[in-house]
Amino acid sequence: MSKTALITGVRGQDGAYLSKLLLSKGYKVVGTDRRRGDQNGWRFNYLGINDEVDVRYMDLLDTGNINHMIREIQPDEVYNLAAQSFVHVSFNQPELTCNVDAMGVVRLLEAIRTFKPDAKFYQASTSEMYGKIREKRQNEDTPFYPRSPYAVAKVFSHFMTVNYRESFNMFTCSGILFNHESPLRGLEFVTRKITYGIASIKLGLKQKITLGNLDAKRDWGYAKEYVEGMWKMMQHDTPGDYVLATGKNRTVRSFVEGACELAEIDIVWEGTGIEEKGIAAKSGKVIVDVSPAFYRPAEVEILLGDASKANKVLDWYPHTDSNALSKLMYSSDIEMLKKR
Ligand code: NAP
Ligand code: GDP
Repeated sequence: MSKTALITGVRGQDGAYLSKLLLSKGYKVVGTDRRRGDQNGWRFNYLGINDEVDVRYMDLLDTGNINHMIREIQPDEVYNLAAQSFVHVSFNQPELTCNVDAMGVVRLLEAIRTFKPDAKFYQASTSEMYGKIREKRQNEDTPFYPRSPYAVAKVFSHFMTVNYRESFNMFTCSGILFNHESPLRGLEFVTRKITYGIASIKLGLKQKITLGNLDAKRDWGYAKEYVEGMWKMMQHDTPGDYVLATGKNRTVRSFVEGACELAEIDIVWEGTGIEEKGIAAKSGKVIVDVSPAFYRPAEVEILLGDASKANKVLDWYPHTDSNALSKLMYSSDIEMLKKR
């Protein structure tokens, strides 16, 4: 009999890729998303799975809703991907962020403990938990130092996931994933803002993009490969915590340069801090500028992951470096914009 997976946040980037992966493995996929005005499934359309995922409404703020869902679906595996996932917004909405990203996880774990205690549980933890880093390369043993309400909430839910494993012998995994991107990434995140923005400039649809801290360094991987790691964690004999990362990082500025190269725009930088500008050498036009509006009250300056546990135990390896990733995203954005 096929397994049933319940994926929360199914209409997000990872939810879409994970649905596609699990469908290809013969799972019955029930996806949940909160009710919104705009229910268009653009990510499912992109992956051609619009009719294959059974999508239900479930809000992580609503205990009764979660209890009913777990009792009714009786999932074999639960992947909790739903979250207020944008760090920047978490500074303005700390209470909502904690309610969804921290207490939402308790609600879900309690529902599983009560109505389907043998279901396996995956928690979408994050490299943001390392925040003000304590070690040059971060692995499962590196202490956390969260720098945003988002990251604080995720540390809480990480340890709740560990605690339900240790207290109730439940099969719970925490995937500590470093930034992962794709053509399905939300437009507010910096990589997609850059590839979409530079593609728009290339096609003459936009003059410039405005960014924040260009010096921030991230370890960027490809979301499609990271959802395979999630699945592998859930198939292992014993539950555990795993870092997924590429082991390489670069600055936001360097990511802009990569996208400009793809667009055949020669970019030169002038000025520093909020005065810094990226200028197209040929036309002399400013195509990148900086605004404090995109700075964070407390920044995570640098992240660099060490995924050797996942390499060894799960045989999980990333294959797409950030150059290949940006090419994939830029090409998809150019094609999408040309069709508009
Ligand atoms: P995403 O695209 O933002 O997807 C998150 C989904 O959760 C969205 O569909 C969102 O719906 C939904 N959601 C928000 N509030 C909810 C609520 N109260 N109840 C139910 N659903 C709710 O994020 P993603 O990039 O796929 O990431 C998946 C998970 O991994 C998230 O938990 C994220 O924090 C975590 N993570 C991501 C990364 C990364 O680099 N992508 C790295 C580490 C960890 P709306 O669209 O309506 O808001
Ligand atoms: P995060 O690592 O989850 O916060 O992912 P983001 O893609 O939102 O941000 C990655 C890094 O890019 C952070 O250090 C941001 O401060 C930096 N950054 C610089 N400019 C921007 C911008 O315009 N938007 C976003 N989202 N981040 C930016």
